[in-house]
Amino acid sequence: MDKITVNGMTFEPYLRRDEIARQVQRVAEEIKRDCTGKSPIFICVLNGAFVFAADLFRACNFNDSEITFIRYKSYCGTSSTGEVKEIVGLNEDISGRTVIIVEDIVDTGVTATQLFAKLRKHNPADIKLATLLFKPDSLTCDVMPDYVGFRIPSKFILGYGLDLDGLLRNLSDIYILSEQADK
Ligand code: IMP
Ligand code: MG
Repeated sequence: MDKITVNGMTFEPYLRRDEIARQVQRVAEEIKRDCTGKSPIFICVLNGAFVFAADLFRACNFNDSEITFIRYKSYCGTSSTGEVKEIVGLNEDISGRTVIIVEDIVDTGVTATQLFAKLRKHNPADIKLATLLFKPDSLTCDVMPDYVGFRIPSKFILGYGLDLDGLLRNLSDIYILSEQADK
């Protein structure tokens, strides 16, 4: 794995695809342990979570569960705007259901907090939050993910669905912003 330069920033290899696959499988086992027989509905938070959600949903291997998609946006460049915009909302009826929110990353926790508040109004039986990545040191809200792939430091990362202004979601490995200033 080589370094990648995009928009004048350099990113270094951080989490390899095989390591990611192992943690996705582990998270799936935890969800299976808790949710078998509950016909959970997965809600993938677009755009960033689409790769993780596809892998996690298949790894859970439930034959009685559904997946749906909502879209939120809060990032501009490499930092959170602090404001979360709903781009695409929820269409399904989730009342009485076990909901599993699937996020790529919980950073400040603002998105997750707003989602919990919105989804609770639809009277689900239970809401769980599964995130591939969690930056505990960035958390500013009273929210805690139930399932976490990796706890990571508060640095900007991309790949495996995560982007820099729309770019490089296609990378199969995850890269981290290099400390070194670009020359
Ligand atoms: P939060 O609302 O601050 O928790 O941020 C949640 C959203 O910000 C995530 O779902 C991502 O879309 C985006 N985000 C947070 N950190 C990163 C990062 O390091 N790289 C790319 N996107 C990020
Ligand atoms: Mg996201």
